[in-house]
Amino acid sequence: LKRSLLLLGIQGAGKGTVGRLLARDQGMAHLSAGSLLRRHVHDGGPFGEEIKAQIDRGCGVSTEISYGLLKKALADASADRPLVLDGYPREQSEIEHLLELLGVNPTLVLHLQAPRPIAVARLLSRSACDDCDATFGPGVPPRFSGVCDDCGGKLASRKDDTPPAIRCRLDGWTRRGPRILERLREITGCTQIDSSRPIDQVMADVEEALSELPN
Ligand SMILES: [Zn+2]
Repeated sequence: LKRSLLLLGIQGAGKGTVGRLLARDQGMAHLSAGSLLRRHVHDGGPFGEEIKAQIDRGCGVSTEISYGLLKKALADASADRPLVLDGYPREQSEIEHLLELLGVNPTLVLHLQAPRPIAVARLLSRSACDDCDATFGPGVPPRFSGVCDDCGGKLASRKDDTPPAIRCRLDGWTRRGPRILERLREITGCTQIDSSRPIDQVMADVEEALSELPN
């Protein structure tokens, strides 16, 4: 892998949107831990059913499942394109998995920071594409209402964006996030970005952080 960028932060901070825009505008390969899971659910089969059962409980899936899916996705990804990975690691133990999978330290770690009330409001008001999992909301509206910008798929709210499931996921990040970020800060450094602002301002900061990397 040439370069890898990790996007971390509380659910609703905008990781998926930033990843999607980096893929669209900079040609980066975007891998979302959550999207990989949902794609397998969509494909069905016993493995998809097991993932679905874990997701429906609202609190994410086991580290073994995430690791296996990511390993396969990274093996399939082109080594020439810079990678943007969003939403992984979610557990401290997954940091070692990640380093093993990448084979090198991540090039850049961005922590997208948004206050919890803003994150909750975004999760409750967003809709996701049935086909490609892109998300849209009041701050990043689709060009045509109810239709995905990227693939033309239908937008609907996600099953796990209910208040109790949101609370559970946010609590998980609040508990585990700081230690994950601390460890990554030791390994690679970590750039904080205030992602409670409008998306164009957030992207300007993301692009600046990328431009400061050595070639
Ligand atoms: Zn789509």
